Amino acid sequence: MKKVLMGNEAVAYSLFINGVNVVVGYPGTPSTEVIETLKDFQDEDFYVEWSTNEKVALEIAAGASLAGARTVATMKQVGLNVAADPLLSLSVVGVEGGLIVFVADDPGPHSSQTEQDTRNFARFCNLPVFDPSSPKEAFELIKPAFEISEKYKLPVLFRMTTRVCHSNQSIEFEFKREKRKIKGFEKKPEWVILPALSYIKHMELEQKLQDMKKELSAYNRIEGRGKIGIVTGGISYFYVKEAIKGFEDLFSILKITVAHPLDEGFILEFAKDKEMLIFIEELDPVLEEEVKLILFENGRIISTYGKRNGYVPFAGELDVDKVRSIFYKILTDEGFLVKNTFTDGLQIPKRQAQLCAGCPHRNSFLIVKYAMKGKDVIFTGDIGCYTLGFAKPISTTDTCLCMGASITMAQGLKIADRSKKVIAFIGDSTFFHSGITGLVNSYYNRHNITICILDNLTTGMTGFQPHPGTGKKIYGEEGRKVSIEGIAKGIGVERILVIDPYSDFTENVDKVREFLKDDELGVIVFRRECANLKSRESYFKINQNCSNCKVCLQVTGCPALNEDENGNIFIDSTLCNGCGLCKSFCRYSAIEKVIKDD
Ligand code: SF4
Ligand code: SF4
Repeated sequence: MKKVLMGNEAVAYSLFINGVNVVVGYPGTPSTEVIETLKDFQDEDFYVEWSTNEKVALEIAAGASLAGARTVATMKQVGLNVAADPLLSLSVVGVEGGLIVFVADDPGPHSSQTEQDTRNFARFCNLPVFDPSSPKEAFELIKPAFEISEKYKLPVLFRMTTRVCHSNQSIEFEFKREKRKIKGFEKKPEWVILPALSYIKHMELEQKLQDMKKELSAYNRIEGRGKIGIVTGGISYFYVKEAIKGFEDLFSILKITVAHPLDEGFILEFAKDKEMLIFIEELDPVLEEEVKLILFENGRIISTYGKRNGYVPFAGELDVDKVRSIFYKILTDEGFLVKNTFTDGLQIPKRQAQLCAGCPHRNSFLIVKYAMKGKDVIFTGDIGCYTLGFAKPISTTDTCLCMGASITMAQGLKIADRSKKVIAFIGDSTFFHSGITGLVNSYYNRHNITICILDNLTTGMTGFQPHPGTGKKIYGEEGRKVSIEGIAKGIGVERILVIDPYSDFTENVDKVREFLKDDELGVIVFRRECANLKSRESYFKINQNCSNCKVCLQVTGCPALNEDENGNIFIDSTLCNGCGLCKSFCRYSAIEKVIKDD
């Protein structure tokens, strides 16, 4: 069959065809579509789930692998931090069935708190890392990734970046699943890692890396015969191809598909007749450092251009225009006669991220903000849609670090300054991911903070995946529902308030103000389904009473509220989700509800 597949879909198809048995992960852009695609595939020896976090997922994958199953754990780059503990231990303990750790990096970053480079994790863990440039290449590399994992009994990292994950390509393949027999768990002393064994296994690991270099080098390739060598990989390879159009004779390209470990012989062969080397890669100078080390150790002195001498930026995503500008600068600095073809590209204006129209989180933030009006409060935020609580005019996010840290940072802030009120905001899925441990700590250590759990009954930011609080499993079938307030109560928290953020704003403000009067540990659950999930029954419109004071717009910042060309306020009925928040701020009764199909 021939199909146009997105990078993540291509990975999913290839995993299924290549007999993957267990796929587990936690949603995170840009990795989410791998599991979203796989969940539509069925087979008797195939299992897929959303786990509560990446560490849990990798440990499930490790267990299944020890029983001989082909397994995959999926996550985004920051998720790998959460899963780092089992990953490092697995690199020593090893695996049985092929285990791929699929990690999507986010240069830019488009929807992440870091721009970290998973290739560095591979170096840190001593594990091989595949770095495909396109959906088709990703599709083709899954099979060898499993085979390498099984041959060397090691997990294999499969790193993609946003552009590869989310670009589309036509791929021809036979949709036929490889049938494998799972041999089952065999008891072996080596599965129990003890310090003495760890030392022996570490030496074995170093040897395995040496052994696999030549074999992995087959996935890297040299193109062209020009005197200027470009070392590149991942999506940057295509930026390079595009940028050198018309000047191909000047260049040759070393396209690195397996970024670690690198085979010295292959690198030296490429560099032997080059006048200079240019390193084009996103994020960290991984190829640049590895290749330079090989050159240095082999006494090869050559001009190099990359991140380390400031020609290639360390941060942000590359594109064709940026790469063209880099080449132009290097070639003019080096005195090459090249027409002014490599120029800067267009600068597109940036748009500020904001909560959707009718997002219940907007109401929840404003309820707490108004309840605390005039008080000295610190608001800690977390990762998810509600990170947007920092945006004006909501402005109720003073810190944001990583998943679950709103609750724990709030405790640190409270320890440092007991006179302050500290209020943490976290989402439902994030609470299950890593908020629970923070809540336990605040109860145990008597940290008197308030934890607001914004429960929109889904994992909103990544595309509405279920989580334990929904009670639904990945296919929508019944799991067991885990109650957020039940957890808080079970831990021992006595002060718990559940609020519908869409209900009367003033009453909610009073309730929250009353709740926050005492400086004790408390949990407020704001529960209302995500505005994008509910069917729209009503919307609001502005009537003739409007004085055009613009308070509704200025206070809520709702994107459905806008000004027309004459400066008059109006509500875009196609965007309005009927939350009624703006109505709470209008003193002129100028905002009225319209029942849909009226
Ligand atoms: S009711 Fe008002 S605040 Fe709510 S979505 Fe509509 S315009 Fe926005
Ligand atoms: S708050 Fe009321 S009066 Fe003021 S602009 Fe909005 S709709 Fe008009």
